[in-house]
Amino acid sequence: MKGISKYTPLLNLPQGIAPFSLGEGNTPLIKSRQIGPELGFPNLYFKLESSNPSGSYKDRFAAFAIADVLANQGKLCLATSSGNTGAALAAYAAAAGIPCKIAIVEGAPEGKLKQMRAYGASLYVIKDFGKNSDVSEKIFEKLGEVAVENNTCLQVSAFKYSPVGMTGVQTISFELAEDLDRVGNVFVPSGGGGLALAIARGFQSWKNQNEAFELPRVHCVQPEGNDTIAGNLRKGLKEAKAVENATTKVSGLQVANVIDGTETLMECKASGGNGFLVSDEETFECQRLLAIKEGIYTEPAGAVALAGCMKAIASGELDKNANAVCIVSGSGFKDPEATDNLIVQNPVSYLSSYREMDQYFAIK
Ligand SMILES: *Cc1c(COP(=O)(O)O)cnc(C)c1O
Repeated sequence: MKGISKYTPLLNLPQGIAPFSLGEGNTPLIKSRQIGPELGFPNLYFKLESSNPSGSYKDRFAAFAIADVLANQGKLCLATSSGNTGAALAAYAAAAGIPCKIAIVEGAPEGKLKQMRAYGASLYVIKDFGKNSDVSEKIFEKLGEVAVENNTCLQVSAFKYSPVGMTGVQTISFELAEDLDRVGNVFVPSGGGGLALAIARGFQSWKNQNEAFELPRVHCVQPEGNDTIAGNLRKGLKEAKAVENATTKVSGLQVANVIDGTETLMECKASGGNGFLVSDEETFECQRLLAIKEGIYTEPAGAVALAGCMKAIASGELDKNANAVCIVSGSGFKDPEATDNLIVQNPVSYLSSYREMDQYFAIK
C-alpha cells in the first residue's frame, strides 16, 4: 500500500473510515545541502509537505475529513480557511462530488483563492476574520449552527472541530519515524497549533507501537505578529492566549483566537520542545534561502520553521550534533505575490530579437 493508507491501522479512527485519497503523503525528506553545513549544523532536514496534491500538508487532513463526511452521508463540505485548508477540501470535495462552501479569512492570497475557485468551491471572504479574535469567534459560532442545520460537521484544520481529519496529519510523524533513525527535533510552523499538535500526537502513537522509539522534541514556531502559543510556551505558562489582532503578513498563520493552542502548548512542553517567535522579515529571508540554497520553493508559512530552527542554533539551544527537521508546510506556487520579495534582484531579460542572444549567451 502506498501513501497514508498503510497507516490506517495505527490511527484511532471511527469504524470503517479509510482515507479518500488523491495521492497525498509519502512526501520527500531532504537533507540540507548548504544552509545546515554553513551553520555548522550537519543534520538539518526539510520535510517537503509542499509536494502534496494541492500543495500543502492540509491534504492529509482533507483525505480523512472528506472520508468522514462521506461516512456520515454528509451532502456538503462546510469549512473555514486561510487558504490551504480550503484548497485541500475543495479538491477532495470535487473528487467526491460534494459541494464545498468556505468562509475565508480576510487577506487570503489571490493564488489560494484561485486554486479553490478552480476546484469549484463557493468562497466567502469575511472582513476581519482571522485578524480579530472576537469576529473570528462569532463566525465559528454561526458556522456551527449552519453545520447542524445541514446535518454536517464544520471542517476546520484543528482537533477542536475536526478530530478525524486531524488524525490524518499524524501520518507526517509516522513517515519521519520511518525515514530517520533518530528524529531528534521537529520545528513546526504554527497558526492555530493543530499541525504541531498532530505531529506531537503522531509521535506518541508511534511510540505506543514501537517501544524503542525515542520521542522527538516538537517545537512550536510562530510569527511575532500572531503569538498565541510560542511566547507562553517559552515563558513556562500553561495556557495559550488570544491576540486581539494578528499583525503578521504570513498567510496561513493569522489565527488570532485560541483553537488547539493550549493542548499544543502542553504537548510541545511534554515533548521537551520550546516556543520560538520569528519576525516576518526573518521568515521572508528563510523563504529566500530555501529557494536559493536548497532548491526548495515554499510559501512564507513553509519557511517559518527554518527561521525558528536557525534561532535555536544561533542561541545554542540546539546542540550542533542534534538532528532537526523543519516542516516545509506549503508550496511557493500558493502565493505568487509573496515570491516578489525573492526576485527583485533577479529580473528577466527581454530580448527584442534572437540576434541579441550573442550578447547574453556568450560562449567563453
Ligand atoms: C495551516 C498551515 C499552517 C499552520 O497550521 P496550524 O494548524 O494552524 O498551526 C502552517 N503552514 C501552512 C502552509 C498551512 O497551510
